[in-house]
Amino acid sequence: MAKHERSLLTNEWYVVPVSVDCAGCGAQTRSAGIIVGPTGLTNAADFDLDSDVFQKPWEQLEAFGLIERLGGRTENVERFVANRYHSAFSMQDDGLKAVCEHCSDSLPSELIRLAAMDSFVRLGQRRLLKNEGLMIFSSNVVLTQFHGGTWIQESGIEDGGYALLLLCDAEDGNGRTGVIEIWHSVERNDYAMVLKGHGDREMLRRGFSDDLGQLVGDVTALGLVLTQLHLAQADSPYCDVARSLFLGALSRAGYQLAE
Ligand SMILES: [Zn+2]
Repeated sequence: MAKHERSLLTNEWYVVPVSVDCAGCGAQTRSAGIIVGPTGLTNAADFDLDSDVFQKPWEQLEAFGLIERLGGRTENVERFVANRYHSAFSMQDDGLKAVCEHCSDSLPSELIRLAAMDSFVRLGQRRLLKNEGLMIFSSNVVLTQFHGGTWIQESGIEDGGYALLLLCDAEDGNGRTGVIEIWHSVERNDYAMVLKGHGDREMLRRGFSDDLGQLVGDVTALGLVLTQLHLAQADSPYCDVARSLFLGALSRAGYQLAE
């Protein structure tokens, strides 16, 4: 088990139900825990989306982990977690907390830890886990990592069969520049994204399903602005089609193209 403060960026997370006794009101209460999947990425605590995107490479979690605390800068956590599961979680001063459904007291992580892991393993065995799939970012999390089953297939460029299609020049909130590479596997019909900072240094890589919209969503969540789009091979019709699809996904996401 590894436990220290860090930043977390992931679109693989599961909300699992727990039933525990609340210390505040004494009643048995239903709440929930959040488990992050092995494709989750971590970085140093207090990662700054405005200036660290092209500076500090992310590391893959490579294990399941229970979120013990989710705080600091929490881009989408309130919208994606607290509002959807409002009887189970609330945003408090120091971040997202599991709460009692009766008295809204926060439930300490020691109280829900075992119940959440148990629930996760049970649901996983019956294949009832549903990845929430939305990108969440938190600049200050504490995780308890554990190894569960590896039944959840992840996509990865390492498996081969991916071709580099597009290169996008991008800028972070402070005007630092980097490159986003967009890869595709015909065989798997999957996209992948690699983010590179100066000197071609890899900062982050992510796999996606066949949905380019998700990739655009990640770029937006990272606060990046795209400045130029290049084909990986100028005369490849495959790259050309990818460009049209990508531009379509960008415009559906509300991006405006400056000529
Ligand atoms: Zn209570």
